[in-house]
Amino acid sequence: MGVLNMTKKIVIVGGVAGGATAAARLRRIDEQSHIVMFEKGEHISFANCGLPYYIGGVIEERSKLLVQTVEGMSHKFKLDIRNLTEVIKINRNEKSVTVKHVITGQEYKESYDYLILSPGARAIVPPIKGIQEAKNLFTLRNIPDTDKIKLWVGEQKPQKAVVIGGGFIGLEMAENLHHLGIEVTIVEASNQVMAPLDYEMAQIVHQHIRDMGSTLILNDGVQSFENTGKKIILTSGLELESDMTILSVGVRPENELAISADLNVGSRGGIIVNEYLQTEDPFIYAIGDAIEVKDLVQQIPTMVPLAWPANRQGRIVADNIYGKNIAYKGTLGTAIAKVFDLTVAVTGNNEKTLNGLGVPFQAIHIHPLSHAGYYPGGHQLSLKLTFNPEDGSIYGVQGVGLDGVDKRIDVIATAIKAGLTVYDLPELELAYAPPYSSAKDPVNMLGYVASNIVDGALRTFHYHEIEKLISDGATLIDVREKEEFDLGTIPGAKNIPLSEIRERIVEFPKEKTIYITCQVGLRGYLATRVLAENGIEAVNLSGGYKTYSQAYGLKQQSTLNCINK
Ligand SMILES: Cc1cc2nc3c(=O)[nH]c(=O)nc-3n(C[C@H](O)[C@H](O)[C@H](O)COP(=O)(O)OP(=O)(O)OC[C@H]3O[C@@H](n4cnc5c(N)ncnc54)[C@H](O)[C@@H]3O)c2cc1C
Repeated sequence: MGVLNMTKKIVIVGGVAGGATAAARLRRIDEQSHIVMFEKGEHISFANCGLPYYIGGVIEERSKLLVQTVEGMSHKFKLDIRNLTEVIKINRNEKSVTVKHVITGQEYKESYDYLILSPGARAIVPPIKGIQEAKNLFTLRNIPDTDKIKLWVGEQKPQKAVVIGGGFIGLEMAENLHHLGIEVTIVEASNQVMAPLDYEMAQIVHQHIRDMGSTLILNDGVQSFENTGKKIILTSGLELESDMTILSVGVRPENELAISADLNVGSRGGIIVNEYLQTEDPFIYAIGDAIEVKDLVQQIPTMVPLAWPANRQGRIVADNIYGKNIAYKGTLGTAIAKVFDLTVAVTGNNEKTLNGLGVPFQAIHIHPLSHAGYYPGGHQLSLKLTFNPEDGSIYGVQGVGLDGVDKRIDVIATAIKAGLTVYDLPELELAYAPPYSSAKDPVNMLGYVASNIVDGALRTFHYHEIEKLISDGATLIDVREKEEFDLGTIPGAKNIPLSEIRERIVEFPKEKTIYITCQVGLRGYLATRVLAENGIEAVNLSGGYKTYSQAYGLKQQSTLNCINK
């Protein structure tokens, strides 16, 4: 492997995603090194991501969560694993750590040549009135948390659960508790669940959660816990009964060790590392949820507590300790979650982020079928792409749907990483047969629509601009067929079906921009082309009435609807 041939002693703090990956890779690089992995918990290398599904009974055996045991991994990789041992201090001047056995309290020092910090993150527990007295309140991070929840469910047989926080883990827990037949209420302080989604995409999730029979309360937080947690009073004054409450309002990096060793942390508390994952101390590296990373697209600092970065960094850090100098270039934040029957996935920058940064961008929405319409079982999925309107470079994508979301997001994540632009997306030759896709895959479609915009062949407007446009006197034409229009349209829209547009061209005023809407954006685009040929300037509603109705929570379309014109 071309590595330096000197036996090293490497100490790792944290024995799960990042730490265990680093340990295994270190051993594969060098058979001689002394690798000590400290883990304050009992378990190492367990499947954090599977915990909600074990609670819900989808994963039936607890042992399946324990990917490696202390004995098994020690033996397999010749590691010195010390679980139930917390690292309590880094003594940088003497290159040692002070550790404490969590049961015996015994303290000692362990020297290192290189130290890897992978201590992860911890669940945020805000100082809400009554929270300390709440007996039915749980957070979820590790196996003991899981055991407590599982025990409570088994013994107390809760009828009603409240999940506080609508992030990935909160929603996975909501789904799994619902799966157990528990009535679930989700309380989210902001106006949407799943922060990496933009609002109109999150609205699809909101509707689905409600359709599945769970209660979703947005724009409301917890003011206090009463009666040992059995009653929850919200900021709005609303009172909820709860037999069990899951608190899932985010995580904060485990940075105390680093701070007390005078290592730099960023504004959100993440340990600062260079591109080789080295802190300012050349003998100390840090990885995983505890570090600040660069947003791969914008190259600005961010925090992304996910498993892929932790695993990737675990491997890189081992390589770099052995002189390979592999740069970690940044994190896209590619993420996916199952929310009841929906798949929700994202990568890169969404509109909220780009607006916040003041980065000029364009966004498009499409609602293609997951596979060929004539083959049974296709479902409409909703995709939103953000990109640079000047050069077509891709900023990010979000997808929500019953089927086929994951692979589209993964392809775009790959495209962003490879530096492809929207012009490259139509050129991607993706696997097609009717049960899987269409000859023009949704990824190709995103590329066609976005490149039309960059070329100036298509101008779009967005659902959130409509109200002002109408009040300013804009002309909005719905080009769907009359039967569709009659089922529901945007207030203020007039119906001129695409099929009649050429005969009725005189009805379009030439002196002003015409705003066009259709079902998903395709017929609207065709209409703008006809109008343009007739000297009429027209812009098309991104994602059509489908995006509009999703954004405003109108139930006209269900997520199972297959209209794709
Ligand atoms: C319920 C749940 C579901 C998740 N689902 C997903 C998912 O679907 N997809 C995804 O990408 N990510 C998911 N994640 C996030 C993912 O698990 C983390 O991003 C990943 O585990 C981070 O790896 P890490 O090594 O930084 O930290 P961890 O894997 O958390 O490991 C850190 C370990 O360090 C130990 N430790 C901390 N301080 C010390 C100390 N001083 N001394 C000794 N030991 C210490 C901790 O006890 C902990 O075991 C999920 C997380 C949870 C909790």
